[in-house]
Amino acid sequence: MAEFESGRPVALRGGTVLPMDDRRTVLENADVLLVGERIEAVGPALDVPEGTVEIDATGGIVLPGMIDTHRHMWQAAMRGYGADWTLTQYFVWNYLEWGKVFRPEDVHAGNVLSAIESLDAGVTTTVDWSHGLQTTDHADAAVDALQSVPGRFVLAYGNLQAGPWEWSTRPEFRDFVSRRITPGDDMLGFQMAFDVTGDPEFPERAAFEVAREVGAPVTTHAGVWGATNDQGVRLMHENGFATPQTIYVHAATLSEDSYQRIAATGGTVSVSTESEQSAGQGYPPTWTLRNHGIPVALSMDTSVWWSADLFSAMRATLGADRSREHLEAHAKGETVTNCHLRADQVVEWATRGGARALRLEGVVGSLEPGKKADVVLIKNDASPVMFPLLNPYGHVALQAQRGDVHTVLVNGRVVKHEHRLIDIDLERARQAVAATVDHLKSTLGPEAWAKGMNPDIPATKILDNPYTYTDYRTGSTHGQ
Ligand SMILES: [Zn+2]
Repeated sequence: MAEFESGRPVALRGGTVLPMDDRRTVLENADVLLVGERIEAVGPALDVPEGTVEIDATGGIVLPGMIDTHRHMWQAAMRGYGADWTLTQYFVWNYLEWGKVFRPEDVHAGNVLSAIESLDAGVTTTVDWSHGLQTTDHADAAVDALQSVPGRFVLAYGNLQAGPWEWSTRPEFRDFVSRRITPGDDMLGFQMAFDVTGDPEFPERAAFEVAREVGAPVTTHAGVWGATNDQGVRLMHENGFATPQTIYVHAATLSEDSYQRIAATGGTVSVSTESEQSAGQGYPPTWTLRNHGIPVALSMDTSVWWSADLFSAMRATLGADRSREHLEAHAKGETVTNCHLRADQVVEWATRGGARALRLEGVVGSLEPGKKADVVLIKNDASPVMFPLLNPYGHVALQAQRGDVHTVLVNGRVVKHEHRLIDIDLERARQAVAATVDHLKSTLGPEAWAKGMNPDIPATKILDNPYTYTDYRTGSTHGQ
């Protein structure tokens, strides 16, 4: 798109704008003007500089770019493979059996695909929870991939093949950080990603100390049924490593005591509702997090099961929270007459909540002059689902989907327009992923490959049904 290449200002004209400010303002028939890397102005009928490219946003919704705070991007190369997995099967496949066969180029291929998928779905910032970094060659490949796609990313460095106290204390890890990570770079942030097992010896201390030395926030799978529990949260807290920068992923199976510790230290929970619902970490926790005032961000976890689409995250999170609220009430013989969780709240979690979690709230997450221009236009004139547009937050959370993402800007650059990605080499990404799939298939062999994708189904015993008034099998009716 030549019109976008010259760095001309861009104006989105006449949309329903959700700036995601404190008052949850809704601006109807408003404009958003973007100049260079930043948002210049938001409001009705803006005057724009000469040479501005104008995008017709009428009938659409303009909101800040969405933020995914936890995704194992390398696993996008196995899209959908684990659709029927439980967490146990995921652990066995990745940790015990096959995770080690991923080469640097496989991490690269998965990351590129996942990064492109983010932009396509209006996710402008993605945390790459990259726990397949067996060597720093893998880590270099991960960063090369993220830097080859014009999105905003955070590399959360991890290695599921070694203890965090091992990989984080190797000199090559420090060398990698100094070579590839620039403090303050808001296009490529840095975290350390590891889990705390609850071992009373707390071997993870060494990794936390490295994180502190290199200035990296820690993101950790916490409250995962059968894997991490209250002991991990307690050890982090008692040893002074639970901080406002800490992100607790899932935090689903935890006691009151752990939620109190998280709340008291200002950490954020990254809720992956679709993941928690089918993998088994525990019930998606937003219904209990709100009782503690714990900040929430959203995430999609992994495309080996789910999409990388925050519309799905918003919808699933609303549904799971309300489902739980009704269930708890019914158990007491009560009826919920007003839902606690509202559509505008999940839209906030998908945008500003993520920015807050990543300490990027001054940079992205809302449409305010001076912030970086990460913007999404949801508009689809060919869709019967774009009208009437009565409740914009509800429309984003429960009506819209990724196919409705019309235009996406990251850091002022138009990366998608009129439903088409711009300057993205999807064919190259496709070929690289195909090579990774070939590598995996040939390494596993046909039997293990098929078995991994098709876990056994437990036997079900159909209960005897005493209500035999109608015998539908024979078509006869008793009593005649
Ligand atoms: Zn995860």
